Amino acid sequence: MQTEFLKDQLVHPIRIPTPFAVGDVFSYLITDDKIVLVDAGQYTEEAFEVLDDRFHEHGLSLEDLDEIWLTHGHPDHFGQAARLADRADAIVFGHPKERANFAGNDDGDLFEDFFQKHNIPSKFTSKMVEQLDWLQQFQLPIEPEWINEGDELTSGEMTAMVQHTPGHAPGHVVFNTNRDMMFGGDLLLAHISTNALINFDPDTGNRNKSLLQYRRSLQWMRKQQGIVLPGHGEIIEKASEVADHHLEEHEKRYQKIRRLLQEPMSLMELSYNMFPDAIKEGAIFLVLSEVLGYLDWGIEEGAIHLDESQMIYRVA
Ligand SMILES: [Zn+2]
Ligand SMILES: [Zn+2]
Repeated sequence: MQTEFLKDQLVHPIRIPTPFAVGDVFSYLITDDKIVLVDAGQYTEEAFEVLDDRFHEHGLSLEDLDEIWLTHGHPDHFGQAARLADRADAIVFGHPKERANFAGNDDGDLFEDFFQKHNIPSKFTSKMVEQLDWLQQFQLPIEPEWINEGDELTSGEMTAMVQHTPGHAPGHVVFNTNRDMMFGGDLLLAHISTNALINFDPDTGNRNKSLLQYRRSLQWMRKQQGIVLPGHGEIIEKASEVADHHLEEHEKRYQKIRRLLQEPMSLMELSYNMFPDAIKEGAIFLVLSEVLGYLDWGIEEGAIHLDESQMIYRVA
């Protein structure tokens, strides 16, 4: 795509294959006064070699890396950062609400409590725990320098404001640059509608209302000009259109769930009603994340009631 940022040769997308269902992940090389990577791919030899090759194509070696800016602490984005940073003596930046993710803490106990409270059958919980364990091999723990909303990073000519955009992950950030584009991480993806995952606040251990956070982050995004360089999929030229589309899809699903809850149901029953095929295909964690998001929404609005003695939801 011939946009300004590509013409000025400052930012170079690097497509990295992943072992994950989401497909390839994009890392972005900035060749400014400093050499910066936005996200670093997962910890695999293949990802390392792709980066090494692409650095060489630009007349650079991985040792030239000055800084790594991390959008969030999922393995496909941060897994390899520690290895690269060690090698180049580079500084890594990330948001403190990702502390648990960056440290490789899988929040296993918090998830187990949550599943138990909601009577999720053990065949599913053991599968989810297995999936969490499997992810560990694709990341090295790291403690970055902390950045917060409003902080500014710079590579030289380019500066980027840190915007905290939780929902997909508690400390997800967008790097909003002075060049009519932003590094969007997994906030806005053209091909995936809801991606607000079940997650916990690392400071309190409380479960975040991640869909509500995510919708607030999308509300911010829809007001932004400029293009979005995402973590996966096509470059997004009109952030507002894609954000609006996702917000409308949420609204439709929310209304559907309110209709279904004329009949009282547990989280698991409602999940079967909404997404039976996805559950069969093994995407139980995504399904529970999604359905729970709408339940949080309904409870916050007073439209849905939760009977906590039996963990049964119904319309209020
Ligand atoms: Zn992610
Ligand atoms: Zn991702």
